[in-house]
Amino acid sequence: MKIAFIGLGNMGAPMAGNLLKAGHELAVYDLDAAALDRLATQGARPGASLADTVDGAEMVITMLPAARHVDKVINGEGGVLGYVQPGVPIVDCSTIGPATARQLSASAQAHGNAFADAPVSGGTGGAAAGTLTFMVGGDEALFERIKPVLQCMGRNIVHCGAVGNGQVAKLCNNLLLGVTMVGVSEAMSLGTSQGMDAKVLAGIINTSTGRCWSSDTYNPFPGVIDGAPASRGYTGGFGVDLMLKDLGLAMDAAHEKHQPLPMGALAQDLYQQWSSQGQGALDFSSIIKLLATLPSSP
Ligand code: NAD
Repeated sequence: MKIAFIGLGNMGAPMAGNLLKAGHELAVYDLDAAALDRLATQGARPGASLADTVDGAEMVITMLPAARHVDKVINGEGGVLGYVQPGVPIVDCSTIGPATARQLSASAQAHGNAFADAPVSGGTGGAAAGTLTFMVGGDEALFERIKPVLQCMGRNIVHCGAVGNGQVAKLCNNLLLGVTMVGVSEAMSLGTSQGMDAKVLAGIINTSTGRCWSSDTYNPFPGVIDGAPASRGYTGGFGVDLMLKDLGLAMDAAHEKHQPLPMGALAQDLYQQWSSQGQGALDFSSIIKLLATLPSSP
């Protein structure tokens, strides 16, 4: 299939790479010329503009940082909807919140294009391995149509219901992820401050009731897990500012429905403090370093 893939960052680049490996024909676009070059060496056609990228596409996939980027790329001047053929489905895999996804769906439908929100979970490791979970919002027929393509990039492709519901599922997951990463950071900091070996402690947690992804796959303590961002200076991975964005989207959704999120609010405050110290581009597991700078509990 001819696919236009827009946004070749930490997630988009390996996802596009897996579509190429599966035999799809890709036109790719990113503001970063180096990212475009990397995909071109893997066999993709670098687009000169959004118009050029979607020319002849049978499906458009976007993987961009936040709602404003997705809105600009799809709806803005010179954006996808100005050039894509009617009938071509648009699938956004970014985390943008349910309200924006529903607005984009309405805009796309007015141009004769179906829209699905399909945010992902699984991190950069899952993107590279093609084992992501896709949480899809959109009608059933559209879900069945796009599923074979998503299966080239993920292992679990879940239909969450109407458009926007993929985003709802994603926000709930990331709310929990943001909280568990702070919790694992606290446990690892306490244990090692008491003289416990970090790997031994993590091994116990990972076979005990504290086990969670933040500990057994993405442990924030350096050296515990080879290949985790903590073991490479918190580079790559999922940025503090992206986590902050997702917690903000969860808070917006909670306010709308009067749902209290006390743990989420506390986690949001900690990531905000860390970002304000200029650490927003580091992987979110670096939150363990903020803990070391906080005053001790009374
Ligand atoms: P990223 O910042 O690494 O990549 C985003 C890419 O979009 C960059 O290459 C940037 O140049 C490009 N871009 C920005 N504006 C553009 C525009 N107008 N036109 C074309 N390209 C543009 O982000 P990421 O880590 O790949 O995350 C992408 C999305 O996936 C985010 O919504 C994030 O919340 C979500 N997500 C990330 C992870 C993760 O582990 N990194 C996991 C799950 C979901």
